[in-house]
Amino acid sequence: MANEELKTMVNQILKHPSCESPKGSRLEDLRTKVKQAKLNQKEINRNEYRREQSIKALNLEKDDMYVQLLLPFKYERVISATKTHYKGKIEYICKYENCEKSFMKACNFLDHVRMHEEVKPYE
Ligand SMILES: [Zn+2]
Repeated sequence: MANEELKTMVNQILKHPSCESPKGSRLEDLRTKVKQAKLNQKEINRNEYRREQSIKALNLEKDDMYVQLLLPFKYERVISATKTHYKGKIEYICKYENCEKSFMKACNFLDHVRMHEEVKPYE
């Protein structure tokens, strides 16, 4: 569920506490949906954590490892031609809408694209 949608629901609930509202059951419904969305997010985070652990366990070369870790995200991997100090090095370009960020370090870039997907890996 999109974060915006979740925020709207939370606001609706805050504005109309069910004890004062005749639409109690509908709000109860919303509460359940918000709870479910939070649980889903936890599950997504947990899955990302597991995915990261299993990729790390393969002991790949650093480059290959990041190719695997970055696989679900929208990005482009190019040989840098623009950044003078890094010419010839690998550059990661973010391909999310309205984002033109680029990174030289894969680890920083991974954090960045995970932010777009609102994924935080944890156990
Ligand atoms: Zn971005």
